[in-house]
Amino acid sequence: MYNTNLKRVLSLLLVLCFFVSVPFVYSESKVKCPSDQHDWGEGWKTTTPATCAKEGTETRICTKCDEEETRPIPNYPINGPQAKMMVGK
Ligand SMILES: [Zn+2]
Repeated sequence: MYNTNLKRVLSLLLVLCFFVSVPFVYSESKVKCPSDQHDWGEGWKTTTPATCAKEGTETRICTKCDEEETRPIPNYPINGPQAKMMVGK
């Protein structure tokens, strides 16, 4: 009697565990948004600063789907808009 009750409780627990874990599994695989509908939140962040000899890199991450984009920062001195920004500071 006691044994069958215990088995029932255990199987119930197993079923409960299964249902509780399902949302976690689904949240792992976020749906990617269309390429023109990303929400870049804080925008570009420098991951590797450029030096006069080497290019740097900057990254931005979509707040909706965690899509990551990386672009190079040209090494300076250059005459691009970024160099002008640096000079202005
Ligand atoms: Zn996105």
